[in-house]
Amino acid sequence: MKEKILIVEDNPLHMRLVEMTLRAKNYTILQATDGEEALKIAARERPDLIIMDLNLPETTGFKLTKKLRENPAFSHTPIIALTAYPLGGDRERVIEAGCDIYITKPINTRKLPEVIAKMLSQQQKDNSQP
Ligand code: MN
Repeated sequence: MKEKILIVEDNPLHMRLVEMTLRAKNYTILQATDGEEALKIAARERPDLIIMDLNLPETTGFKLTKKLRENPAFSHTPIIALTAYPLGGDRERVIEAGCDIYITKPINTRKLPEVIAKMLSQQQKDNSQP
C-alpha cells in the first residue's frame, strides 16, 4: 500500500519543491495550504507522515501540531517541521509542540526523502510491536 504524506505549506514554491522531491518516490502526496485545510485532509485521509511548515496564515505549525497530537489518531504520526530560519531557542518549542524533527529551508532534496523513508520504516516497526 502506498504511504500517504501530507504536506502543509502555504508558500507555492516550497510546496512544489517538496512535492517534486517526493513525487519520484512511491507515495501518495496530499497538500494543504492552511491550518483548516490541513485538519480536514488529515481527518479524512489519515496520512502516514506530515510535513509541517511552521509559518502559516491564520495559525502556526506549532499550534497545528499540538491540535493534531490531541487526536489519538495522530498521536504517533511522524511530523517533520519545516522552518525558514535556523531555530535556535525555538528548537525546544518545536519538540514541545509535538514535532519529531525539524528541517531548515531551503530543503535538502536528497536528504529529505532519506529522512522520510527512515521515519516511515521506524513507524511501521513501532506499529507492528505487540
Ligand atoms: Mn509559510
